[in-house]
Amino acid sequence: MAKLPIVNDLGFYEIRMESVGGFGANLAGKILGEAGVLGMGFNGSNFSSYGSEKKGSPIKSFVRFCDTNTNVRVNSPVTEPHMLVIFLETMLDTAGVISGAGADTTVIVNTKMTPDEARDRMKLHCGTVVTLDAMKIAVEEKTRVNTALLGTLTATSGFIDPEAIKDYIRKNLGKKYAFLIEPNLKTFDRGTVEYQSKTFTDDGKYPAQPFRREGQKMGYMNQPLGGVLLNPGSSLHKDLTVSRSGFVPVLLIDKCTSCGECDITCPDYCFEWEKETDKKGKEVQMLKRIRYMHCKGCLRCVEICKFGALVGEVEYEVDKSIITAGFTESAESAKV
Ligand code: SF4
Ligand code: SF4
Repeated sequence: MAKLPIVNDLGFYEIRMESVGGFGANLAGKILGEAGVLGMGFNGSNFSSYGSEKKGSPIKSFVRFCDTNTNVRVNSPVTEPHMLVIFLETMLDTAGVISGAGADTTVIVNTKMTPDEARDRMKLHCGTVVTLDAMKIAVEEKTRVNTALLGTLTATSGFIDPEAIKDYIRKNLGKKYAFLIEPNLKTFDRGTVEYQSKTFTDDGKYPAQPFRREGQKMGYMNQPLGGVLLNPGSSLHKDLTVSRSGFVPVLLIDKCTSCGECDITCPDYCFEWEKETDKKGKEVQMLKRIRYMHCKGCLRCVEICKFGALVGEVEYEVDKSIITAGFTESAESAKV
């Protein structure tokens, strides 16, 4: 049996995955847990924590390994991980994502950034930062980021057997998703090599961020009556950027006839309109832009637009200025 490179006071090597629904963090934790316990012979456990089980809602997956002489009597979330996997670059701005990471932690981030850039973005005290453009791999292989990140986790862990992980990728996809096995194994293999890694010592650049548990703001003493809306209009500020799984619609404003079909189709009211006066002096509504903070990238609007004014693009290939402006003049200016 392989030896765990490091363990905490209770004898566990601990892994925490931070993601949102739809990126496969739950399945990645399950594959990793099964591969470690059933494939490699460790004792261990795996579970996920999430609210509503749907695309875009926050999810954390936890995995613990220990040797066979240690009993697993801990079932609380992992607060000080040896391995922290962050499934989306946009989550780096979310409070608490890197809490509990220390000098012994390897932080794996799905991003195009270098480890130096990622460390600065996270304001990470110290530890090892590993970056991997898992979204690029997933889009190219028509898979999801989870198996690419599993590849990087395996390669950087120093003890996880890649063949055990591959075995449990096959078993979990099974006969039902047999057509996804080969692309996912290829995605995994690419994850084991296409990463950059750098270790940072405590150079005083950023303070440590110990784990802290946010207390419940409401309890039986101050809970409002059911049905009371304390914060009306809050959906206006809701940012769904982290819910997008790699694709965005691009509005080619020169082709748009302001027919309104996209607005009827969009579930999240992303389209912004302005009143104008047409040549006949009649007041009309004109489509001006997509408000991307509300867009979850479902691309329903692209399917419905019969004028070719909306095209679906891979998000990381789209010029950032289009995301800011909400439109572009023509298809040629849509790419980076
Ligand atoms: S469906 Fe197409 S043409 Fe119609 S308003 Fe939307 S983008 Fe413009
Ligand atoms: S992809 Fe289109 S339909 Fe879907 S949320 Fe974004 S703007 Fe709305």
